[in-house]
Amino acid sequence: TLSEKLKKTLKTLRGESKLTEAHITAAMGDIRIALLEADVNYGVVKQFVERVKEKALGQEVWQSLSPAQQVVKIVFDEMVELLGGDASEVTFTAHNPNVILMVGLQGSGKTTSTGKIARFLAQQRKRHPLLVSVDVYRPAARDQLSVIGKAIGVPVYEDATTNDPLALARAAYRDAQLRGFDTLLVDTAGRLHIDDELMTELAQLKSELNPIETLFVADAMIGQDAVRSATEFHERIGLTGVVLSKMDGDARGGAALSIRSMIGQPIKFVGVGEKYDALESFYPDRIAQRILGMGDVLSLIEKVQQEVDEAEAVRLQQRMLENRFTLEDYRAQLRQVGKLGSLDKLLGMLPDGLLPGLNLRMTPQQTQMMQRKLKETEAIINSMTKQEREDHTLLAKTLSRRKRVARGSGMPVRKVEELLNEFSMMRRMMQQMTRGGLFGGLGGLFG
Ligand code: GDP
Ligand code: MG
Repeated sequence: TLSEKLKKTLKTLRGESKLTEAHITAAMGDIRIALLEADVNYGVVKQFVERVKEKALGQEVWQSLSPAQQVVKIVFDEMVELLGGDASEVTFTAHNPNVILMVGLQGSGKTTSTGKIARFLAQQRKRHPLLVSVDVYRPAARDQLSVIGKAIGVPVYEDATTNDPLALARAAYRDAQLRGFDTLLVDTAGRLHIDDELMTELAQLKSELNPIETLFVADAMIGQDAVRSATEFHERIGLTGVVLSKMDGDARGGAALSIRSMIGQPIKFVGVGEKYDALESFYPDRIAQRILGMGDVLSLIEKVQQEVDEAEAVRLQQRMLENRFTLEDYRAQLRQVGKLGSLDKLLGMLPDGLLPGLNLRMTPQQTQMMQRKLKETEAIINSMTKQEREDHTLLAKTLSRRKRVARGSGMPVRKVEELLNEFSMMRRMMQQMTRGGLFGGLGGLFG
């Protein structure tokens, strides 16, 4: 698997201090093979690897990170971006009924997904959907949708007297209009293989119904074949999104990456089981983890972040020791503290009895006050000029400057002055300390 391969690559890269072209090429070779094994389309892999290489080479080397960690982070970020960034939603218009056309090969999961999406839209988006099956070729197909409709409590338009898909769709549309349904989901026929007749019919349905979404249901288990048919459906009728079904199986999800980059349309839903609630929104980072081999990568990413934070902490500490600590650094430090989460947690991490006589157990009110003070302090520092942040005495000397900062941050002048006093006190304390701790500088806040 990729994570094993990565581990091996990480080993060979360990101990190096810089990303060289040779390292990247070696790491990319493994990643390339793993992607192909995950059933990602060859052309997509090639393009992906090129993009990652380019980014890795152009990037500044972070002092605190190993080259391998950097490569992994770049690979992960790139994959998330390629998969489409954030989760993509269905956007409705005011023109009801909004039509969603479901297309795909036979057995891909169209009918099941139609039910799942209707249920999802009714529950999560407060829509009022009507269902219709225009799969007139297999007698059981329409019954299947009726059974699903009953199970999820969504009405199904039925008319056993017609075998014309277009007429059926038109009638369902009128019915939805008349009875005030705001959404119409149209389940279509599939074929085992793409043929002209089916494509013509789907194209007609599309131009007749003018759907807001034409969703291609792709069976994740069939990998490359799903990619090929998605591409062909897209060329023939134009898709707006993809439902990736059967991701509860052991498919690695490589199809997601391929389909996304081949047709350039977002994956909107992921099917994760046969039940009608087994539907998820598509989260690129989750799929990227899955393609790359799950948790390993995530923990690496976390470690990368931690290392970046640690490097920043060391830098700030160094400035304190050199007595070059400015308001700008103070703000950076506050941001670090903010990132660590609640101050409660931070204080809880300190061993008991560390500071005898000082009660570190705070009430929720005290914690809230502290959080507010952090925010206010940041707002005040944000309103200073760069020059003032670098030399706090400018503000200490001139009232008009203090007034301007107060106005800019929406705080009373008194608060600006308090902050300046605390900051000067802190700097004096630092000077007295031979060794400053990361949080020593926050003395002013705790006082
Ligand atoms: P259609 O021919 O495209 O309409 O496909 P169906 O909706 O009839 O589904 C074909 C088969 O796949 C059925 O047995 C479904 O229960 C199953 N199926 C659909 N979606 C999923 C899914 O997300 N996970 C699993 N495990 N099975 C699914
Ligand atoms: Mg069906």
